[in-house]
Amino acid sequence: MSDTIFSKIIRKEIPADIVYEDDLTLAFRDVNPQAPVHILIIPKQPIVSIATATDADANLLGELLLTAKRVATQQGLDEGYRIVINTGEHGGQTVFHLHLHLLGKRMMTWPPG
Ligand code: AMP
Repeated sequence: MSDTIFSKIIRKEIPADIVYEDDLTLAFRDVNPQAPVHILIIPKQPIVSIATATDADANLLGELLLTAKRVATQQGLDEGYRIVINTGEHGGQTVFHLHLHLLGKRMMTWPPG
């Protein structure tokens, strides 16, 4: 997989507002927030998208969701939140390093655009 801007954030080559980090995952604020709280959760291991994840990634995918839950608690999203994974062109994915969007502190609408 080719290098993305998120690889540079993992290597601390470019700045990011990091809110959580552990051995496997990293969470930082989105530069173009779509909600009062908008945080991206990424695996440190480069995976392009959910579409390219394999059975071998099962543990890591679970860790991403658990990190999202931890960050939601840390950010006080007690009234709820939304987790989004844009996948591929029609899914609106623009950065090809798997990431979860954690959005909160406003009422979400359905269906999403
Ligand atoms: P997606 O469109 O699902 O691929 O989401 C990519 C997200 O990355 C967008 O919401 C961008 O605003 C965000 N983004 C791009 N570059 C950066 C950066 N350097 N730091 C934080 N967020 C970024």
